[in-house]
Amino acid sequence: MSRRSDPRPELFDKITSLAKRRGFVFPSSEIYGGAGATWDFGPLGVELKNNVKRSWWRAMTQLRDDVVGIDGAILMHPRVWEASGHVENFVDPLIECGSCRKRYRIDELPDGDALMVRWRAGALDSSGMPCPSCNEKRLSQPRKFNLMFKTFVGPVEDSASVAWLRPETAQSIYVDFENVQQSMRRKLPFGIAQIGKAFRNEITPGNFIFRSREFEQMEMQYFCHPSQAGALFDQWKGVRKAWHRALGTPEEWLRFRDHAMDERAHYAAAATDIEFRFPFGWKELEGIHNRTDYDLKRHAECSGKNIEYFDDERKEHYVPNVVETSVGADRATFAVLCAAYDEEPDKEGTRVVLRFTPELAPYKVAILPLSKKPELSGLAGEVWAKVRPHVMSTYDETQAIGRRYRRQDEIGTPLCVTVDFDSLTDRQVTIRERDSMAQVRIPIDELVPTLKAKLRG
Ligand code: ATP
Repeated sequence: MSRRSDPRPELFDKITSLAKRRGFVFPSSEIYGGAGATWDFGPLGVELKNNVKRSWWRAMTQLRDDVVGIDGAILMHPRVWEASGHVENFVDPLIECGSCRKRYRIDELPDGDALMVRWRAGALDSSGMPCPSCNEKRLSQPRKFNLMFKTFVGPVEDSASVAWLRPETAQSIYVDFENVQQSMRRKLPFGIAQIGKAFRNEITPGNFIFRSREFEQMEMQYFCHPSQAGALFDQWKGVRKAWHRALGTPEEWLRFRDHAMDERAHYAAAATDIEFRFPFGWKELEGIHNRTDYDLKRHAECSGKNIEYFDDERKEHYVPNVVETSVGADRATFAVLCAAYDEEPDKEGTRVVLRFTPELAPYKVAILPLSKKPELSGLAGEVWAKVRPHVMSTYDETQAIGRRYRRQDEIGTPLCVTVDFDSLTDRQVTIRERDSMAQVRIPIDELVPTLKAKLRG
């Protein structure tokens, strides 16, 4: 019955079309023909993505005694990006076909990983390689392309006023390390979490919201003594995978991919991706890195400020090491959509169901009067008013009830409440469950606690 463990390529088209049709995600500036890999989250998409972010924030800050949050500015001092290495090194190798003009990142070409190794060693010659699109052997030599968006602060556009739209949120966590540690009187080890926008001028964005130019990251930097970083890296791998599982993602749709030595940044002692089985293959969903003391040391060097920590238990001064976990909110939302999508045969053909957990579902409850008759609308409106303050809910009175159930299934609403003509006299309503389609009738007075109990599972 279920197709959840079978992510076939057609799932991509089904999800992108459902996302647009049902108000999850639209191309940004669509009436102008789109704006180059930027996306708008519609009324249901913003609920879903907010729920993903809320779940991450709760797991990473509220439920832990060792992580606090910040919300840093997107525009930072330009030297931040020199210190971090982004001005010099945040580049993708770009190759362009002289014949069909198609552009590629080297890692997207056939045997891309091996080509990247050669490029990093300065030993890649692309002449003689065929273009994967037109097969002509007219590929340019790779050229470095910086992915940061440049802008100017103030009215004058000169080199002194350059600013960058941040390509990751992590840097404000490093730069704020001492402010957070001191204001919150934290002892190591502890972490700082942040959710925020990041911008990358990707050469080849695509695959829907998987890779866009403007996206949100959910990043956490965990500061510790150098001797603890290895074990903490392993611990965080487990913690982060468990979070993806708790969102309802099946175990067999997730895997770790450890980075080889020649793939990692020079300062990283260890790096792994949590990969997800997207409809277009296994791809990175989250990165986990042991970044050593590189970031804080670089900011200390470039700002001239001493960022050492004094550990009064060890009686030792040291620059903390960092274990980072970094996941895209948009990419995680896409993964959740893929994992939730399900189809099953029914008497009308196919029932499409988004099997979101109640925590993630955009609407938890839909109130559906059996018909549009005014006497039912009155009571149904009353029922909705009772439910609204407690859970995110919606109301639908158009078309046959069966079609309305299907519509709610397709957007993942776990529970429907039907108000019928008997409700007018017996003050009872029917709750219908999305997954089992089982129905129970209960008094309106017990509705809110019953819904809450069902949503808790
Ligand atoms: P990729 O190899 O897919 O480009 P990356 O290794 O550059 O990713 P990181 O710099 O580690 O990615 O960023 C951390 C996370 O941010 C990624 O795991 C991903 O979830 C998200 N992310 C990165 N780039 C994008 C993008 N262009 N669009 C959407 N999400 C992104």
